Amino acid sequence: MTTDVDTFRRRTSDAQQRLRERGSDGLVLFPSRNLRYLAGYSEEPGERHFLLFVPAEGEAVFFVPALSGDQIREASWVDDVRTWNDAEDPVPRIADIAAELDLAAGHLLVDDTMWALFTQDLRDALPDATFGLASEVLGDLRVRKDDAELDAMRRAGAVADETVRDLRAMGEEALGLSEAELAAEIEELLESNGGTGVAFETIVGAGPNGAKPHHHHGDREITPGEPVVLDFGTRVDGYPSDQTRTLVFGGEPSERFREVHEIVREAQQAGVDAVEPGVTAESVDDATREVIEDAGYGDEFIHRTGHGVGLDVHEEPYIVEGNERELQPGMVFSVEPGIYLLGEFGVRIEDLVVVTEEGCERLNDTDRGWAC
Ligand code: ZN
Ligand code: ZN
Repeated sequence: MTTDVDTFRRRTSDAQQRLRERGSDGLVLFPSRNLRYLAGYSEEPGERHFLLFVPAEGEAVFFVPALSGDQIREASWVDDVRTWNDAEDPVPRIADIAAELDLAAGHLLVDDTMWALFTQDLRDALPDATFGLASEVLGDLRVRKDDAELDAMRRAGAVADETVRDLRAMGEEALGLSEAELAAEIEELLESNGGTGVAFETIVGAGPNGAKPHHHHGDREITPGEPVVLDFGTRVDGYPSDQTRTLVFGGEPSERFREVHEIVREAQQAGVDAVEPGVTAESVDDATREVIEDAGYGDEFIHRTGHGVGLDVHEEPYIVEGNERELQPGMVFSVEPGIYLLGEFGVRIEDLVVVTEEGCERLNDTDRGWAC
């Protein structure tokens, strides 16, 4: 399934309804995940004014650089695409469009990641408007994935699963590679299994490097018996995968590693088992943490249990103590407990799950053991 025009129209009319309910007059988006979500098109932000106006009532209007005009007419369902060229001052045009859409003195929700350069021009163009953040309406929409999104995320999960199987099949062939070389191998596998690019910088943490959750990859060689934390993701139709396995590519790991790996595996399962509609995000964090605390490693589990995943790799709902948000069907997030023993090794196991009417469905489902 690819996302069709009706899906984007429905998302936009849902957003408009929410704008009206809260008494806001419109959205002003910038190249971003929000723009891609509503318009079906985005690009890298640049120095030229590139805006989508979505009034609470009526049709959306793109105002974009002339050089992007044709591309947007082809790629987006939005019919009203207006362009400006490099020789003109776009700010008065912005004021004109806002006046035409009855937004000039309205309350506008601006893309959260819009550059200050452009918010400043918006304020100058619309001195009577007031401003809030687009996430006030789009956050609640984006947090529950629709069928097209779930379809893309299932396929991205399958690419990640296939890649883990390929990595296990490498076994002792991986010995002697550097972390960076193994990361490059993972990225090639993700592409050949059907993914596009990487969703975030690939993590390959061998031995003590695995104990640093933010280590990416370096020169350390993969050696027999040494655990390796592998955390990677790619995209399918714009949607990411995010999966972690901790593997030993050859030789025998220490007794302590085996014990810690088993604890993390139990914690991860306890987290997944805790997921159902109506429970709070923090209760899933409690479930993984309890297993690790009971085993005596509470101080070594140094991060939250998980994060929502959608167009952004990190978004709501955050699976963290203090987040009382109730889980609802269609939410997708990671369950990724870990134990990090400074100077020795780390263990993390991560899968994505989607909340269903009865419980949850795993978007990743390969073996969680350490053996190759
Ligand atoms: Zn991850
Ligand atoms: Zn993650």
